[in-house]
Amino acid sequence: MSDQIVESVRAAGVVGAGGAGFPTHVKIAARVDTVIANGAECEPLLHCDQYLMTTQADEVVEGLRLVMQASGAKHGVIALKQKYQAAIVALRAALDQRPKMNVRLHLLESYYPAGDEFLLVYDVTGRLVPETGLPLHVGCIVQNVGTLANIARAQRGEPVTHRLLTVTGEVRAPKTLRVPIGTSIGEVIRWAGGVKSDSASLSIILGGPMMGRLATSLDEPVTKTTSGIIVLPADNATVRYLRRPLGSWIKRGRSTCDQCRDCTDLCPRHLLGHDLEPHKIMRTINYGITTLPFNVTAAVLCCECRLCEAYACPLELSPCAYYKEIKRQLAAQGWRNDVHKRTDLAPHPFREFRRVPTERLIGRLGLTAYAQLECPLDPGDYRPERVTIPLRQHIGMAARPVVRAGDVVAVGDLIGEIPEGKLGARVHASINGKVVEATAEEVVIVS
Ligand code: SF4
Ligand code: SF4
Repeated sequence: MSDQIVESVRAAGVVGAGGAGFPTHVKIAARVDTVIANGAECEPLLHCDQYLMTTQADEVVEGLRLVMQASGAKHGVIALKQKYQAAIVALRAALDQRPKMNVRLHLLESYYPAGDEFLLVYDVTGRLVPETGLPLHVGCIVQNVGTLANIARAQRGEPVTHRLLTVTGEVRAPKTLRVPIGTSIGEVIRWAGGVKSDSASLSIILGGPMMGRLATSLDEPVTKTTSGIIVLPADNATVRYLRRPLGSWIKRGRSTCDQCRDCTDLCPRHLLGHDLEPHKIMRTINYGITTLPFNVTAAVLCCECRLCEAYACPLELSPCAYYKEIKRQLAAQGWRNDVHKRTDLAPHPFREFRRVPTERLIGRLGLTAYAQLECPLDPGDYRPERVTIPLRQHIGMAARPVVRAGDVVAVGDLIGEIPEGKLGARVHASINGKVVEATAEEVVIVS
């Protein structure tokens, strides 16, 4: 039965819906004792996981049951914010239908980054994931609640073709809606009433304001991992941070870092006991010190939560930007990590007091007005006339196109296959129509 669950998830093209899109069939093939459903939704302004847990609680719980079965886990935990009261009621009702499941709810305060897998595993189980390790190294699998709903659908033979996401910010009708994968973000913004002001003065963030990225054009497609489309004034603090090039971060750091250590004192990975001290990377780079490679390669311990940059530093500097570039260079050099693998970790004694409340982070990011927008769930059946479906929406190799221009496809038909023997995920048609283009990168379908 375990193999059958893993195979159905592979066939349906399920990938991690809350993060980088790791292929789920690989993740759930591990043997663990605990599966944690991640409903923390710690990114400001996003509402999709909250609505998903409220309206599809049965599917979330069924997905959790399937992963517990596939991995042999005896314990299940659903972690979500205490303030998601409607979701808590819905999940409790769904769990009441399955009295034999050993699952509990774990209620979280609103702080950032509560949904980081390492933090969540520690908060839920008290176990510390080793440096550069994985939750499975301490007997856990963490799955986003959207991924779990997709796993439940996969078991019924339904592939991943749509994405629930929040559209908010400077749009006329902020909302949370379900859209076919491959829909352009410009179209989704139109479905949210269009923008409120001159589009030239606006910027668009894909994902959350902390871990998301700036969109390059309105033609960019929604993918399996797009949790939000946030339209903001170009002079908003969040946009300013995301726009700043590395050279400018370095110039600022060289001229103003006073080694106050605030970035280290609030770094969530440092507070878990990892050997990551972002103030030291500032010192190392700013003063041209090259004799401390440990501080440089410690970049691999950074989860890129951007808390140092957007909240902790009083001078608007970014150790995170340095770490990202170092990671890129280490990967390009083929550097092998034999150093940052400590398992003898001890959380910082003040960790509890150094959590960053989401409300305060929102204020710092200049997002208070937008955080008050409700973004209600819109049950509409949105169907674009054209979708551009990327064949790489996941970690691993791009899928290999299995359709050609002129082919007629229906929702759910396979259009991209995992290359033989490689890590990857299948891709399926999200609308009925005709394939007008199929390249190594994407498949375009017109209805
Ligand atoms: S918080 Fe800012 S000023 Fe202080 S050490 Fe870190 S980067 Fe430098
Ligand atoms: S982005 Fe900054 S705060 Fe976050 S883990 Fe990396 S160094 Fe720490």
